[in-house]
Amino acid sequence: MDFALDDQQRMVQEMVRSFAEDRLRPGAAERDRTGEFPHEIFEEMGELGLLGMFVPEEYGGAGMDLLSYLLAVEELARVDASVAVGMSVTNSVCCYPILTFGTEEQKRRYLPELASGRAIGGFMLTEPHAGSDAASLKTRYRDAGDHWVLDGSKAWITNAGVGRYFVCLATREPELGVRGISAFILDADQDGVIVDRPEAKMGLKSSRTAMVTLDGARVPKDAMLGEEGRGFRVALGTLDHSRLGIAAQAVGIAQAALEEALRYASERQQFGRPLIGHQAIAFRLAEMDTEIAAARALLWHAAWAAGQPGRHSRESARAKLYASEMANRVVGQALQVHGGYGYSREYTIERLYRDVRVTTIYEGTSEVQKLVISRALAELAGTLA
Ligand SMILES: Cc1cc2nc3c(=O)[nH]c(=O)nc-3n(C[C@H](O)[C@H](O)[C@H](O)COP(=O)(O)OP(=O)(O)OC[C@H]3O[C@@H](n4cnc5c(N)ncnc54)[C@H](O)[C@@H]3O)c2cc1C
Repeated sequence: MDFALDDQQRMVQEMVRSFAEDRLRPGAAERDRTGEFPHEIFEEMGELGLLGMFVPEEYGGAGMDLLSYLLAVEELARVDASVAVGMSVTNSVCCYPILTFGTEEQKRRYLPELASGRAIGGFMLTEPHAGSDAASLKTRYRDAGDHWVLDGSKAWITNAGVGRYFVCLATREPELGVRGISAFILDADQDGVIVDRPEAKMGLKSSRTAMVTLDGARVPKDAMLGEEGRGFRVALGTLDHSRLGIAAQAVGIAQAALEEALRYASERQQFGRPLIGHQAIAFRLAEMDTEIAAARALLWHAAWAAGQPGRHSRESARAKLYASEMANRVVGQALQVHGGYGYSREYTIERLYRDVRVTTIYEGTSEVQKLVISRALAELAGTLA
């Protein structure tokens, strides 16, 4: 077993770290205050190949492996989690399903635009009444001869208003259950796609999230993704993959929190010595460091599993569950190390505390990850009997 990164992975890690420090760090606190979406930064990420990282070069992507992508997400999230989520959504819930389930024509049509940053991507699964129970979605599609027509409401859509192409799930008839669901590549640049005002979120302020109404939205006949009636498989396969990006985001935020706590604990003096000189604080930092390393190892293992034949739902749910719960614990502990100053907007840890909260919620809550893992365990139990 070799845990060493190869030359390309190390190069990606170093390149994204310096990009994040040079280009994200200076404006991160200000963007958190204003909520302004960083269009220029996304353009630059497109030029650097960060928006189509595992898209093969023949479709305009960077042609890298999954671990390189996860390293990049971690490095971006370490500095600005809002940018990291917009980048990971474009890669993993838009490029990935097109690459995996799309026709050759679809790949040639959409991937070069997404990978280059000319078009930002997203995913429309959640609805006001269909969250964890995504299969109960009600957005309808119908055949209108030379195109499809979609009607319904999609909730909490990342990159809505700034993105162009969205993988969108809709049903022909809700009573058909999952067999009625199909996936589409929706071009949001049309009158039938109405984006509401951005959600007033607790954190991830400069990541755009909004409700979207589809009112007679048109989709070309050849933009159905996968076979008709198999859309829920597209959604589940996509989430198995994309959850790894959220786990990487959580690890990146936790790593940033540890660094902030270390810095503060070395500078702040109480009872005649730096905080880090008190064993209770030093041990707390040691535990944080250990938990982050454990989450990263689980994530890298899940990335390896994703490259093996067969399903990897359990591995990716475990990585997302552990990394996001860990990150919430670690950021809370790092804030505690800051004492009252951690409660102030003057300190980065306050932003991290707000940003990290959603990692146990989106792309499947922790409870949903436990459902995925326990179902896999139940299958395993069947084979043990
Ligand atoms: C910032 C942000 C960005 C998002 N971006 C996107 C996006 O781009 N595209 C998209 O499609 N969606 C997106 N989402 C939606 C997100 O995936 C959902 O919020 C999430 O899946 C949970 O759904 P819900 O909010 O409706 O909660 P609910 O499903 O209503 O759950 C509420 C609570 O009940 C628990 N619960 C539900 N069912 C069970 C059960 N069977 N057993 C035990 N507990 C259960 C949940 O775990 C949770 O704690 C985003 C959400 C946020 C906050």
